[in-house]
Formats: sequence, C-alpha cells, structure tokens
Amino acid sequence: MNKLAILGATGSIGTSSLDVVRAHRDRLEVVAVSAHRDWRKLAKICREFSPRVAILAEESLRDEVDTSQFPQETELQFGAEAITQTARASDIDTVIAAIVGAAGLASSYAAVDTGKRLAIANKETLVVAGPIIVERARQTGAELLPVDSEHSAIFQAMQAGSAQEVSKIILTSSGGPFREKSQEEIAVVTPEEALQHPTWEMGQKITIDSATMMNKALEIIEARWLFNLQSDQIEVVIHQQSFVHSMVEFIDGSVIAQMSPPDMRLPIQYALSYPHRWIAVAAKADFKKTFSLDFSPPDFERFPALKLGFDVASQGGTTGAVLNACNEVAVSRFLRRELSFYDIARLCRELLDRHNFIRKPTIEELMAQDKWARKETNLWKP
Ligand code: NAD
Ligand code: MG
Repeated sequence: MNKLAILGATGSIGTSSLDVVRAHRDRLEVVAVSAHRDWRKLAKICREFSPRVAILAEESLRDEVDTSQFPQETELQFGAEAITQTARASDIDTVIAAIVGAAGLASSYAAVDTGKRLAIANKETLVVAGPIIVERARQTGAELLPVDSEHSAIFQAMQAGSAQEVSKIILTSSGGPFREKSQEEIAVVTPEEALQHPTWEMGQKITIDSATMMNKALEIIEARWLFNLQSDQIEVVIHQQSFVHSMVEFIDGSVIAQMSPPDMRLPIQYALSYPHRWIAVAAKADFKKTFSLDFSPPDFERFPALKLGFDVASQGGTTGAVLNACNEVAVSRFLRRELSFYDIARLCRELLDRHNFIRKPTIEELMAQDKWARKETNLWKP
C-alpha cells in the first residue's frame, strides 16, 4: 500500500488525484488531506476516503467549521504549520504537492527532508527554491516525481537514453486562449477572457499563467532544476492540440515524445506508479480517427513573460523567488481589475531588475525576497 498525503486536495490536481485513488484502491490509501478554506469540500472528501488527518490552512475558520461533517476517524487540524508537520509524518510514503503558489514550499521541502516520494504539481516550489529542493532530495534519497504534464513527458522520454546523451528538451505549450490575438487585442483582455483555456481545466492562477505564458516561463525554470539542464538546452514550441506533452532530443538527433489526450490523471498516476505502469484511468488516444498535430515557434513579442523564464533559468539565485512572488500578486491584482494583462510581465521584469540579487541564497533569504516582491507588487501603480 502506498500511503498518501494529498496537499491541496480540493483543487483541480487534488480532485484528479482522488480519481486516481478511486481507480487503484488496492494500491493507494489516503492518509492525509489539506485545503485552504473550503471545509465543506474537505469534509466530503473525508467522508469518502476516511483519512487519519485533515487540515485547513486558514486558522480563522476554527470556529466556523461544523466538525460533525467530518468522520470520527479523521482528526481535523488547522494552520500552515500543521500541513508541514503532516508532510513529515512517518505513516506517509508519498506527498502529492497540489497546493498552488509559494504556499506549497514548506510542505514540499518537509517531504523531501524526510526522504519521501514527492509527486510535485506545485511548480512554484521549484521556481522559488529548485536547487535547494533538488539538493536536499539527493542527500535524503527522496524521490522527486513530476506531475506537471510537460515534465512527466520529459521524465518518461528521458528513459530512452542516458542523461549525458540528452541534447535538449522541447516543452510544448497550447499557446493559451490568446494564441491568435494581436498584441493590441491582448493588451485589453479581461479576466473573464483570460480564464477561458482552450484545452485544460485548471485552477484560476495557472489558467491566467497559461494566458500570459508565464506558466511556460515557470515550466522552463522547473525543468532547468528538475533535469539539471542549462537554459540553452530548453526550447518551447506551440502545439495547440496539447497531445504531445513534451519531447527530448538526444545527441544523435532522435526526438522522443510522450503523447496522450490531455488529462492530468495520467501524469499524476505515473508519479505514483513509477517505475511501473498501471491500467489507465484517463481516456486513451484513438488513432482510428483522422487528426493532425501542429507545431510552431512561440512569439516573444506578444508573450513577453516567456523571456523572463529563460532569463531566470539562466540567472538562478534569488530571481525565481522574485519572479514567482511578483507574478502571484500581479495575477490576483489582474483578477481584481487593478492591473492590465501586460502589466503582469512588465512588473515582473521591473522587480527582477531592481531586486538585490544573491547567487546562492538560503531558504530564509529566498523568503525575504518573496516578501519584498509581494509588497512592491501590491504597492505598484500602473
Ligand atoms: P487550484 O487552485 O485548483 O487548487 C489549489 C489547492 O491548493 C486547493 O486545494 C486550495 O485549497 C489549496 N491552497 C490554495 N492556497 C493555499 C494556501 N495558502 N495554503 C494551503 N493550501 C492552499 O490549483 P490547481 O490547478 O490544482 O494547481 C495546483 C498546483 O498544480 C499549481 O502549482 C499548478 O501550477 C500546478 N499544476 C496544475 C495543473 C492543472 O491541470 N490544474 C497542471 C500542472 C500543474
Ligand atoms: Mg504544465
């Protein structure tokens, strides 16, 4: 039995993870779940899966929650620290990191620090502290398994050769909802338009990130640390069907791709089944139908966030923490209509240029930069 903690169980990845558990009850057991504030949804999950512990990150809900909605066998806890402590618990084998944003960093680090398998969807953790997480995993023997579909694809394709034989990776991107729009049109898009993703149904923050292509920028940085690549070994290609999830090119020119219909349950399941494969939960491809796959280069002019990804991947140090924090706050200000669409990337660039760069920061130094960037982004006036 693989004993799981699903952190961020009420979100899009959390929901898909629970679906994978439903299909593989003989192998997977949910021991812990967490959510930010949606206690009704968390209670419903607990009634179905009977975990040992359920945690709400928002402490102030303590007096509001109707504890009778939770089953007897589940202990309800509150606060971010309880989530981190649970990620360290000895009765958990695998932590599924499905919290959104830098809020997922402490629990992801705790899982790696205690030598567990970390199935990581929470890419922001790797953007902020990639080198620290990867190095700690190496020391403790913790396994880092990507859940992000592109990184799962690369992880799978890499098994076709040795690390020294990889020449580059090609990250695919659907191009988001504004793939066909002009720069002038993109400049005035509304939150409602940006929340309509053509191929994936996801949480709000990553959906906006997909529209700005900041999501791909974060994924470039994520790949740089996960696979120990140089930034010039990473390419991005627009592939609107989201069928090829990414590719690895080897030194002999062979390109190995991983393909499947877009459904996060496949990469989540692989992060749990690795090094084996289990029967599919997600629908399979149908090659009896006619369909075609398109690839085209990305446009750095219309999507300035992309360049930020390459710059941060090559600079490292504190740049990931600044980019991520600025983007998180700028996205929420865009959703509140306080910033325009292009302000998000503009502001990230400005803060990266202005911040106090440290080449080999500690976690505390990264957190200080995160705090600074959040404050500056909140104060910024367009
Ligand atoms: P979501 O918004 O649907 O869910 C986020 C989860 O985190 C929820 O359970 C929420 O309660 C919890 N949460 C939010 N803020 C929190 C906080 N401050 N403290 C503790 N918990 C908090 O997001 P999602 O789409 O499921 O994405 C989760 C992560 O997975 C993100 O890092 C995202 O980039 C990554 N990811 C998502 C997808 C996808 O298809 N949704 C694909 C690849 C990667
Ligand atoms: Mg992705």
